[in-house]
Amino acid sequence: MTASLTRREFLQSTAAVGASAAFAHVTPNPLWEGFASLAGPESVPGWASKPMRWIQLTLVEDDPGRFDPSFWLDYFKRTRSEGVCLSGGGCVAYYPTEIQFHHRSAWLGGRDVLGELVSGCRQLGMSVLVRTDPHATYDDLQAAHPDWIAMDADGKPRRHWASPEMWVTCAYGPYNFEFMTAVHEEIMSRYHADGIFLNRWDGNGVCYCRHCIENFKAAAGLDLPRSTSNGDPARGAWLLWRQRRLMSLLDVWNAEIRKVNSEACMIPNNGSGALNSLDMIETSRRVPMLVADRQARRGLAAPWLIGKTAKEFRATMGNKPVIGLFGVGLEEPYRWKDSVTSNAEIRIWVLDAIANGMRPWCSKFSATLHDERWLQGVEEIYQWTERNRNYLTHRQPLARVGMVYSQQTAWYYGDEHAETKVENYALGWYQALVESRIPFEMVHDQLLDLAHLTNLKTLILPNVAALSDAQCEQLRAFVRNGGSLIATYETSLYDELGKRRNSFALADLFGVEWTGKTEGPMLNSYIRLEHEALPHHPLFAGLEDAPRIINSVSCLDVRPRETFAEVPFTLIPSYPDLPMEKVYPRTARTDISCLHLRQPAGRVAYFPSDIDRTFWEVLCVDHLKLLRNTVLWANNEAPVVEVEGPGLLDVTVWRNPGSITIHLVNLTNPMAMKGPYRDFFPIGPHTLKLDLPSHLQAKQAQLLVANKSINFSCSSSQLTVRVPSILDHEVVAIDL
Ligand SMILES: [Zn+2]
Repeated sequence: MTASLTRREFLQSTAAVGASAAFAHVTPNPLWEGFASLAGPESVPGWASKPMRWIQLTLVEDDPGRFDPSFWLDYFKRTRSEGVCLSGGGCVAYYPTEIQFHHRSAWLGGRDVLGELVSGCRQLGMSVLVRTDPHATYDDLQAAHPDWIAMDADGKPRRHWASPEMWVTCAYGPYNFEFMTAVHEEIMSRYHADGIFLNRWDGNGVCYCRHCIENFKAAAGLDLPRSTSNGDPARGAWLLWRQRRLMSLLDVWNAEIRKVNSEACMIPNNGSGALNSLDMIETSRRVPMLVADRQARRGLAAPWLIGKTAKEFRATMGNKPVIGLFGVGLEEPYRWKDSVTSNAEIRIWVLDAIANGMRPWCSKFSATLHDERWLQGVEEIYQWTERNRNYLTHRQPLARVGMVYSQQTAWYYGDEHAETKVENYALGWYQALVESRIPFEMVHDQLLDLAHLTNLKTLILPNVAALSDAQCEQLRAFVRNGGSLIATYETSLYDELGKRRNSFALADLFGVEWTGKTEGPMLNSYIRLEHEALPHHPLFAGLEDAPRIINSVSCLDVRPRETFAEVPFTLIPSYPDLPMEKVYPRTARTDISCLHLRQPAGRVAYFPSDIDRTFWEVLCVDHLKLLRNTVLWANNEAPVVEVEGPGLLDVTVWRNPGSITIHLVNLTNPMAMKGPYRDFFPIGPHTLKLDLPSHLQAKQAQLLVANKSINFSCSSSQLTVRVPSILDHEVVAIDL
């Protein structure tokens, strides 16, 4: 079996979610028509669908000898937490396990700490997940089963990087498939949990143990990869084999725990988005809810990053609950796991998660409190969500714009450079859309069938380089049916396995072919605005007085397939940037277009450059206007909501049973792009205009944070409300 065949088969299986409707004739709905039925997650068992607030207590080994369970049970009660995740076993067992080599906490004594906590939480009516962590073990197990330990490329067993008295286990062999299966069975039999939450279960890179060597050879016909470059064919095959191995592991564990509780499920801890190494569709299929582990900001992360994570998870989870796991400490490479960050930083993170459709999950390491400053802040947020639970069910987003993310592009085109070659393009668009207050969704590239896109008018493809012929056909169908497309740089220049094509698979939509040449990084290059040829063009909004703006950094050389009706932006090529005496344009004007606009049915805008990545790097306001104007031109309809007033706001709009809610998260802060928020700064007033169709009658409007009713006015299809001031967030709720 070759790697590529395996990959294609895998893609076919993942695409089956929407395959039945893939090429059906479904016209994109005008705004609102797609929102008639508010289907809920009926197939989700109650333990997963009901909890709106989760809390996780991760015990450390010496906790059993010193912590006070009644303190925590009281805190769960005060926070109105409805679901809990409690430490069970794997690395350390917090109950009197009978399984050989399952290491009991050295402080356990005669106690059953897990049993005490499960019993207390059940009395509070909580859903209960038990956490296991299989990634590390001890000398006794290593001596008895040396083949259960992960091996490095030299065939040496791997010591744990942080706790050197321990060993790293092999995730793909008998340690997980046999030993941890027995652990999960024992926990379920004793405690009848609703499920098992898996931490660090999916391995630590390539393992060279004898099981991995044999199993990989049998599956792929290859030796294990020795490099991390996608030039190595074994590397691509291994990425795929690892996924299949881990998915079958989930299936084995699920089968075992369902012998005890038929509604139970393994809940794998998970990253998100294009950079996730596990197929999000395959994972989403196996769970009634999923937990996104994005504990806090670090470094230059933007405050909306948790919202992006929420959108990425919802893209593959549909109406199943998506849970946002947040920490209360600083999230930096130095791993201060017992730290406590500012209350403002915790709040902005959790509020943006909620605004984007996540249910909060507070994760606390260590039951012994070294610092109590976070307790009250989390309690306040949780109590607010309880008071407003009817408005936070978040059935359907009303966004009309979708941004595609592509795991296959990250794996096979980006690989070890996925962050710079893939993710930074999406981050540029994300920032531009938040600044523009345009509600939008994330869309998984395996769900581009018309049925999945039915509520969207415009799709953005930020350098989605690796696309199959079938995916490109789905995008053509979207445009044929009136949808609009915006694409940048190398979108569709590679197939789904990362093999470069001679030109774009979407050349017909873009209206251009690649000549084979790429230029960049370009210094001191500009974009000329063709005001004379196209006066008052919508792409020039906010740039009326700008004769030229800075260019992007890298550019593909493209040849037009046709004559374009409008060429609003042309290239001013690079010219010397030193000595200063030599800094003058050699060419004042060219006919080389920087943005290709077509209107075959829906609208198509193609940038042959890394304009979005450049925006993320430089954050030039002219690029913001250009990106925003392009989205508005492509979308070409009245916006769902317009928000007038100052500040940086993350705006989301939801249709819920009996209401519409508009979340306004105030990100305006000197620490917005680096470092924890210290405080909040009120902004306002804001005027909101909602495009409300005549068949929906607004009964009343209220502010869920200010906690008061407000006046609203209606004229034709527009409902207008005024929000006097926003400190950290506000939710406008309109009862229908
Ligand atoms: Zn192994």
